[in-house]
Amino acid sequence: MNKSSRTFILGHRYHVVIVGANFAGLKAASALSSEDFRVTVIDTHPYFEFLPNIHELISGIKKPANLRLPRKSLIEGFGHTFIRDFVTKVDGEKKRIDTATGQKFDYDFCIVAVGGVNNTFGVEGADQYAMPFKSVENCYLIGQKLAHLVKSGDRTNIVIVGGNLEGIEALGEILRKYRKLAEVNIAVIEKSPRLLPGTIASVDSEIRGLCQPFNVSFHTGVGVEKVEEKTIYLSSEEILPSDITIWTGGSCAPKIIDESGLNNAPGQWAAVNHCLQSQKYNNIFIAGDAAELPNPISKQAYYAMDMGILAAENLQHMANGNSFANANLPARPSIVTFGDLSTFLVTDKFAFSGQSLAAIKESIFQLNMVRMDNPIRLGGIFDTAFRINSAATGFVLPSLTSFSALKRLGKLKLLN
Ligand SMILES: Cc1cc2nc3c(=O)[nH]c(=O)nc-3n(C[C@H](O)[C@H](O)[C@H](O)COP(=O)(O)OP(=O)(O)OC[C@H]3O[C@@H](n4cnc5c(N)ncnc54)[C@H](O)[C@@H]3O)c2cc1C
Repeated sequence: MNKSSRTFILGHRYHVVIVGANFAGLKAASALSSEDFRVTVIDTHPYFEFLPNIHELISGIKKPANLRLPRKSLIEGFGHTFIRDFVTKVDGEKKRIDTATGQKFDYDFCIVAVGGVNNTFGVEGADQYAMPFKSVENCYLIGQKLAHLVKSGDRTNIVIVGGNLEGIEALGEILRKYRKLAEVNIAVIEKSPRLLPGTIASVDSEIRGLCQPFNVSFHTGVGVEKVEEKTIYLSSEEILPSDITIWTGGSCAPKIIDESGLNNAPGQWAAVNHCLQSQKYNNIFIAGDAAELPNPISKQAYYAMDMGILAAENLQHMANGNSFANANLPARPSIVTFGDLSTFLVTDKFAFSGQSLAAIKESIFQLNMVRMDNPIRLGGIFDTAFRINSAATGFVLPSLTSFSALKRLGKLKLLN
């Protein structure tokens, strides 16, 4: 616990601006009372998007509307104001937000929750020819283009760049829909020596085994040197044909972090202390993927939500002259779906596979969507869902790190 510096007037209704309203920003908005604070929330896009399930748009088992909630009504439901605009700068010296349309917002406190942007690592042609995998629109367009290519009846060469969580989930959805078609070829490229590099090696073998009957080739331990419209050049000097290149290569800090001087060096994420307070300006808090804690954590939606709430709580502590709380973000397993072929629960130490895990991932999605939705619109359903969701995400998922809890799920295969 850190003591906040007391320079604020008790009882004053301060203006808080939240930049970015997805997992972290929306949670922060929900945790601030409109009686205590005047809150303005700014985001470029009109919808909250549940990104962990966007791969399902590729096969069409989810539609864009399943994964989106309207931001304006959610935020107005909390008693706050929603502004749809792109923030170009958070000016920590002037305590002012500048937007692309020329609007300016003075603030007393700011929460920056801008997430990350697609990272093509400067690979020539990647920005121009590869399709990003970072939003509902991105994945919907990938699904549409794939359907169009396959419908032509010609050979379709699909290249997925990245064999981590996003790339594997994309592969699973493509196999779900197209694996029976002999004219569909899929190549997966991963720079690390194995797929899903953050977990144990046997997950890699399991995925390769499941793909054996289909036209899938894996190129691990190699990087992409250049992307052209119909050709991919690898560091191994292999050249792959590609009718559609899906880029799941990672994310990097958005330009606004640089423009606002919130990082320690250009291109880095926004530096925060253990309480999510900016290391540059003490009335700015950073939450979610955009924040770089002293001990960096993986960029995950469940951390972003916890960080959004903590940023709002510490902001309130600061306004009241109370002590800050430190971020407590224990490691949790990830559930990686592989189309209808399998689902994996992975940690850095062990992994399981089994279809029952798919139901857990779907429950987490459904319950989080209800939990994110406006309590006024949903009335009593919200309370019930909140309780169930607390059980699902707050209890079930962390408890799945224990072998005994996993055994109780039944029909799971331990990958070792
Ligand atoms: C394909 C994919 C699969 C994933 N799977 C999982 C998973 O299985 N489990 C998991 O826990 N996590 C998963 N993640 C990660 C998870 O989605 C992120 O950790 C989470 O979205 C981070 O939340 P955030 O609120 O920090 O940022 P984001 O969700 O990225 O939201 C940032 C918001 O800020 C807005 N914004 C950005 N810049 C500006 C600006 N200048 N002005 C105004 N608004 C701005 C954006 O429009 C956006 O709404 C996945 C991510 C992807 C892309």
